[in-house]
Amino acid sequence: DYQSRLQEAAAFMREHDDFLIISHVNPDGDTTGSALAAALMLEQLGKSYVIVNEGETPGKFGFLPRFHKLYNLAESPIERTFTHVIAVDAADSKRMGDVTHLFANDVQILNIDHHPTNDEFGRFNVIRTDAAATAEIMYELMVAGKFTCNAELATCIYTGLLTDTGGFRYSNTSSFVMQIAAEMLQYGVKPGDIAEQCLEEITWEHVQILRHALQSLQLSFDNRVALLKVHASDLEETGASMEDAGGLVNYARNMKGVEVGVSLCEPVPGVIKVSLRSRQDIDVSQIAKSLGGGGHAKAAGCTLQSSMEEAEKIVLAKLGEVLGVD
Ligand code: 5GP
Ligand code: MN
Ligand code: MN
Repeated sequence: DYQSRLQEAAAFMREHDDFLIISHVNPDGDTTGSALAAALMLEQLGKSYVIVNEGETPGKFGFLPRFHKLYNLAESPIERTFTHVIAVDAADSKRMGDVTHLFANDVQILNIDHHPTNDEFGRFNVIRTDAAATAEIMYELMVAGKFTCNAELATCIYTGLLTDTGGFRYSNTSSFVMQIAAEMLQYGVKPGDIAEQCLEEITWEHVQILRHALQSLQLSFDNRVALLKVHASDLEETGASMEDAGGLVNYARNMKGVEVGVSLCEPVPGVIKVSLRSRQDIDVSQIAKSLGGGGHAKAAGCTLQSSMEEAEKIVLAKLGEVLGVD
């Protein structure tokens, strides 16, 4: 059962050494907070670890403890392999990114995640799909493994909870989430500072790319779907990064009467990052999954190797099916 999975995970950490911790591609607050929480727990056991992401982790998470220990593999390649791996908040092995060259032949992966689309790719899998965040499972692991909570560990856990619940607003905000959050505050977490860094502060480039995105916003299927686009040329013109373009999909989703908000972002020509957000009944994880991605019922995504025009056709066709219109 689930409790024995948590015990297995704690034993995995206690019985081995020299770990590789992996956060998922396009890292968010949950995967980053959970990865750093795993690092802090390993430190308590006197274990060594290397913590990596395929690419860059947004600087807004720079307040998290041990953030400076996170390797950006695109910039700082690692030339050795690991046997003991901990992947956090990654729904499938693809979400770990380009990391397989770091795996020894006898690699054992501990897969800790909360996505309903998780395919249990690990040797050990601690999956609870009704957890609001992987950070919620990290809290349970902390308790099950008898780790010591302190301000640093509490900050990592709180940040994952805060970001994956959209600031304690989404429907995954359970009583348990609020109880953990309250307990983390007792360890000295600064909620105002963390919310400011993770949720409130926006860059100049974000506002510039927002102009382009709003210009492109269009309604389909009787205003039930709102879709916006960010072309590679928009990013180039404004100097905005994909990080600066984060959160734009909410402008599509939040409009009164809209059921599904979509953003299509083109980091480089020929690659389209699709974000899907549902307000009510439509399960967008199934749409994302059918396009090679995954996620949650109300927030999901995938990446298409196509032109912007093709991506728009493909996504709208899927939505048409699900909405029962054509
Ligand atoms: P976002 O639109 O913010 O990138 O992602 C929303 C949700 O969908 C997140 O929970 C994220 O983990 C999931 N997601 C986004 N892209 C992918 C993907 O390519 N594969 C999978 N499995 N999940 C994704
Ligand atoms: Mn995530
Ligand atoms: Mn998550």
